[in-house]
Amino acid sequence: MKQYPSNSKEVAIIGAGLVGCLAALNLAKLGYLVTIFEYRSDPRTIQDHQNLRSINLAISERGIAALQNIDLDLSKRILDQIVPMKGRLIHSAPNSSRSITYAQNYGVNGIECINSIDRNLLNIKLLNEIDTVPTIFAQFNRKLVNLIFPNEDQNDNANPILYFQSTTNQDSSSQNNILKRHDNFNFLIGADGSYSTTRSLLQKHIRMDFKQEYIDMAYLELFISSNPTHNTDSNSRFKLDKNYLHIWPRENFMLIALPNYDGSFTSTFFAPWHIMNSLNSNEEIISFFQTNFPDVLNSNLISQESLLNFFNSNPKSSLICTICNPYNYKGKCLLIGDAAHSMVPFYGQGMNCGFEDVRILSNLIIKNQFDIHDAFEEYTESRHRDLISILQLAKDNYKEMSSNVNSSIHLLSKRLDNGLSKILGDYWLPLYTMVSFRSDISYSQAIKINKRQYRILSTLQLSLLSFSVYFALKYSKPLLNFFNKK
Ligand code: FAD
Repeated sequence: MKQYPSNSKEVAIIGAGLVGCLAALNLAKLGYLVTIFEYRSDPRTIQDHQNLRSINLAISERGIAALQNIDLDLSKRILDQIVPMKGRLIHSAPNSSRSITYAQNYGVNGIECINSIDRNLLNIKLLNEIDTVPTIFAQFNRKLVNLIFPNEDQNDNANPILYFQSTTNQDSSSQNNILKRHDNFNFLIGADGSYSTTRSLLQKHIRMDFKQEYIDMAYLELFISSNPTHNTDSNSRFKLDKNYLHIWPRENFMLIALPNYDGSFTSTFFAPWHIMNSLNSNEEIISFFQTNFPDVLNSNLISQESLLNFFNSNPKSSLICTICNPYNYKGKCLLIGDAAHSMVPFYGQGMNCGFEDVRILSNLIIKNQFDIHDAFEEYTESRHRDLISILQLAKDNYKEMSSNVNSSIHLLSKRLDNGLSKILGDYWLPLYTMVSFRSDISYSQAIKINKRQYRILSTLQLSLLSFSVYFALKYSKPLLNFFNKK
């Protein structure tokens, strides 16, 4: 049993997902006594990992910087099984005029990488770190069900009162399921995901703007197993090139695959609901994949049998965007991660942004000399514009992934963008670089810089086009005359 020192402030964190765990580690480092409450069971005790969301994530600079902000060695331990991906490998549509596969690097120099990591593994590694910190106490099977701020108008110092219900099977039918009351926490952090209970409860106390939107897109998880080989060469375990995020873009639907450390790939099929729902017989599923992704079936990346198995047993999930404002109630409660902002996954930034929330909060607590009220107020004040920026970028990036990657004009302007960056260095940074590889540039700054660069790039492209037309007109007539005379 962990023993707490008795003189520090106590914090409750709701949700032991990725962001809640990181927040626990960071606040403990700042000297707080942390209790983290999780609705589900400890994932380390669950035998059947099929029941967990096993989607893998791309962690990039903002997420890594937040881990390093806690401790460099911790970040190395957490990230020791990542698979770096230096770009996208596009798998063309059948009968396309392009080559079957072609690569597009993420960075200007071709060496910048985002990194694939299994979500469950990352969560488990963070929980293992929590176990080593004597001032963090994790309580599983505890669901936040009520939150009261006593004497709201008169007493700013009163602790919030939290009520939890047990979610274990044994407890649910017995007296143990009765609400557990806690009033020992000085403040709480809501990191309980897109459908946050903390957020709903907070809305009763503050005039919170809140918006939620389901986009017309469903996703289904598939799996590409590793090569059944005894070869010790680690590369041969992968059926696809492991250094890329693989995309099969097909305009309004797509398939992606991210490498796992063990040689397998986690693949996700994204499609509008009417397409997803139309694939409801084995014949339709096979015929759809045979028509649109023949290489996946023909080269046995996924066997027909496995494909049908995935379609018939894995959930078809929806994609939700949420945003709220403000994120805090005085110095008593703050929302972070998906509880405050959930975005579509097309920029690979949801968790990275949640991790960045933790780093920014930690810096504000230090800046405000541990005055939590001021730190929370400044957080809400300064963070909102960045959060709405990344939500918009994430939405826009669906078009980039599913169709722009195929467009010659788009690719040409990308080349120009990268070329200028190579020449001008930090004076010219492509948007993707600013978002994924630069934690020192905020999301809103990235959009602002990109708008300015876009105007310059458009003028440059227009000038190039005008010059080409001018020279074509000027020299084509004499040339035509010359050939006509001959
Ligand atoms: P969650 O992971 O949802 O964790 C919340 C936790 O709170 C859960 O454990 C839940 O059980 C618990 N909880 C809920 N209610 C209560 C309660 N009442 N009491 C106690 N506990 C409670 N992000 C990236 O950065 N890169 C990617 O490549 C990427 N890819 C993605 C692909 C897909 C298909 C999807 C859907 C998302 C992707 N994301 C990605 C986003 C990323 O998964 C989320 O942003 C991230 O998991 C958010 O973490 P969180 O801790 O805020 O919330």
